Amino acid sequence: MEKIFENLVKDAKHILIISHVNPDGDTLGSMCAMYSAILTQYKKKSEMLVPSAIPGIYNFLPNIEKVKILSEFDKSREYDLVITVDVAALDRILEAQILFDKAKHTVNFDHHQTNINFGEVNFVEPHACSCGEVVFKIFEKLGWQINKDTADALYTAILTDTGGFRFENTNPASLEIASKLVAIGVVPKEIYNNCYESKTKSVVMFQNYAVANAHFSEDEKIAYSVILRKDIEKFGVKDSATDGIAETLRSIISTQISFVIKEIDSKTCKVSMRSKKEDVSKICEVFGGGGHKYAAGCTIKLPIKEAVKKLLQEINHEKN
Ligand code: 5GP
Ligand code: MN
Repeated sequence: MEKIFENLVKDAKHILIISHVNPDGDTLGSMCAMYSAILTQYKKKSEMLVPSAIPGIYNFLPNIEKVKILSEFDKSREYDLVITVDVAALDRILEAQILFDKAKHTVNFDHHQTNINFGEVNFVEPHACSCGEVVFKIFEKLGWQINKDTADALYTAILTDTGGFRFENTNPASLEIASKLVAIGVVPKEIYNNCYESKTKSVVMFQNYAVANAHFSEDEKIAYSVILRKDIEKFGVKDSATDGIAETLRSIISTQISFVIKEIDSKTCKVSMRSKKEDVSKICEVFGGGGHKYAAGCTIKLPIKEAVKKLLQEINHEKN
């Protein structure tokens, strides 16, 4: 199947690589790795597209400055090949679906168990730690050159989706690939510093506020933080500032399920859910979302108070 992908790349004049909305290190790292691998291998410049703003910490990724944002993108364009990376479902690329639907060919690289193989060609490996792992394996099978730029981007994808090589998806493959990337020239400390020690003061203050004001179920097994629009505005942070809060709440010994619910507007909320044992992708699927067993998310079209109520009902229903 990788040969089909290679031929699509060879034959395509215009290639577009798309990441998911609220982009994280895996989708951005996989996208930048794909860009630089195609450039190295075929001297072809692809275009890169994000559906929403890139968190500032990822500004170090090679070629990230070439990424365009959907709100400023010409959606009337037609591509020979559209590649999605780390996109669990097509609604995660928002209106970029128009570009996907019009493309002559589509390839879907992903590692979410809830992915329905929406591409013409699909590389979906639910057991892979990250989309970066899926992408690396295809490059390796094809014998594509992995230079320092590609390696830095792939290492970022694997590092961030394994939570710094700590989560359950840290396995022989993820460590083996990381080792190969370090042999190519990746400096782990540099990538670590960029991903985990480059937060702005306001983001840290905001996250501490969110944790300090968290709610707990009576048995303290459910921990959650409710973020209103006015909180985000008060601290002057971007929406991505909520990344990591659900993990902090999960780190409490009594917590079984944690979530952050963020008000997008008066009728829409975004949920980030984490667990230690329960399959939270099932809970998020009830609301039209998805993800992984221990990390999932969804968008709920309700005012935030009602959404919290519904979410708690569903969690309690799933737990019992
Ligand atoms: P996060 O909470 O960090 O945004 O996402 C956790 C995991 O769930 C990621 O793998 C992400 O791709 C997935 N995810 C988050 N929100 C959604 C959603 O609305 N739909 C689907 N299908 N997956 C989601
Ligand atoms: Mn991922």
